[in-house]
Amino acid sequence: MTANELRRIYVKFFEERGHKEIASASLLPENDPTVLFTTAGMHPLVPYLLGESHPQGRRLVDIQKCVRTGDIDEVGDDTHLTFFEMMGNWSLGDYFKEESISMSFDFLTNNLNIPVERLAVTVFEGDLLVPRDTESETIWKSKGLKQSQIYSYGREDNWWGPVGLTGPCGPDTEIFYDMGKPKCSDNCGPSCKCGKYVEIWNNVFMQFNKEADGSFTELQQKNVDTGMGLERVLTVFNGKTNVYDTELFIPVMIRLNSIIEELDAEMSIRDKRIICEHIRAASFILGDPRKICPSNTEQGYILRRLIRRMIRIFKKSGIKQNYLCDLAEVIIHQYANIYSELAENKEFIIEQIQKECDLFAKTLDLGLKKADQYLKNIGMNTALSGESAFRLYDTYGFPIEFTCELAEERGCSVDVESFREKYAEHQDKSRKGAKDKFKGGLADHSIQTARLHTATHLLNSALRKVLGDE
Ligand code: ATP
Ligand code: MG
Ligand code: MG
Ligand code: MG
Repeated sequence: MTANELRRIYVKFFEERGHKEIASASLLPENDPTVLFTTAGMHPLVPYLLGESHPQGRRLVDIQKCVRTGDIDEVGDDTHLTFFEMMGNWSLGDYFKEESISMSFDFLTNNLNIPVERLAVTVFEGDLLVPRDTESETIWKSKGLKQSQIYSYGREDNWWGPVGLTGPCGPDTEIFYDMGKPKCSDNCGPSCKCGKYVEIWNNVFMQFNKEADGSFTELQQKNVDTGMGLERVLTVFNGKTNVYDTELFIPVMIRLNSIIEELDAEMSIRDKRIICEHIRAASFILGDPRKICPSNTEQGYILRRLIRRMIRIFKKSGIKQNYLCDLAEVIIHQYANIYSELAENKEFIIEQIQKECDLFAKTLDLGLKKADQYLKNIGMNTALSGESAFRLYDTYGFPIEFTCELAEERGCSVDVESFREKYAEHQDKSRKGAKDKFKGGLADHSIQTARLHTATHLLNSALRKVLGDE
């Protein structure tokens, strides 16, 4: 099955069941300074999940472009990408668990022909405040899943929300594909990282309202929010073991391999995967109509990190020329029919990548020399100080994970914590400077944004504490 067929049959399946298709929102959330990117299909729908009525009705389906920067360190494994497409369907106060699970099951077993024995699911195990999600468990059993295919976990794995300290929240049921390998241990299950189970779909049931006193009451309007990773489903459906063996990555991987061969260079499989993944993510971020450029702040900084990481990998393989624009062209060509913004912004994408490569070329060699010096001075098994890491960032533009990779290659580590402190101090200083300079203009806006970030961060950590205490 091709990616396009999968996109089509998914949307058609839900349209036939009364859902209206909505367009993918921007990768860069509008009117929401608390997050850098859209990380899930539900993100643009939050107001409707909180009760606002949606102009398209109560049943929605879409394919949403997502970026998860939090998954950057996992890129290179078989299934985690920073950019991916999430197929999702929603019930805004319409159907609930029975219909949602039935539709998911029907889609997977009848439309994708996945044998029921290859599925494994998880449900919320319950705790002192909220009972076990026996409804979902019973529904799964009624579909023919054996008890041994149903796992139950706690809040870390099978609970969603609320967005703030109070509000809608509830259990979820995650659906995994069993890759058919033997279990790695007696405890092996969907939460295991051994690769036997690949999570393909997550159905969230917004069933409760969390009250100010910490109790949970049943919601009047119950919602369903589901998300299924297109790349992962394509992988398992086509009998592949990893996303890079699907048609979505094959063209860019072929191009990369031919560059490496032509130059008689060498590159590890993980590094090749990182390049193919990051060039796709960078092309999509640059292709977004909101036109973000590489920079030292917010989304622009993520973009910069992705591009610089690729440059460094090429450099490590002894490849000095810039091939990133070639690779971006492969991605743009491949996706232009579905995501016309890539074709429309092609020049911008290529120009920005080229610019960033030229800019980094000026400091990369000097920075690498400096980093070598620092690392030689401290010797093996030691941590590079946050101050040195910050100097590499500030003077030579080395993103922190870049420095971490350099250190790792020489058997050292980096004091990341202290780097972050230095970085935060520096950000504070430059914001203050900017504020004095512009008095109330853009700089004020970025201070507001930073405050909001801090507020959200505090809110989230308070939330985690509250949940942890429960
Ligand atoms: P995982 O546990 O594998 O990290 P998740 O539980 O964080 O996944 P969800 O937030 O439930 O993922 O997202 C819904 C679906 O989106 C997942 O079931 C998966 O198919 C897909 N997905 C999530 N993260 C990624 C990623 N980094 N790359 C590709 N697909 C992803
Ligand atoms: Mg995850
Ligand atoms: Mg998961
Ligand atoms: Mg999940």
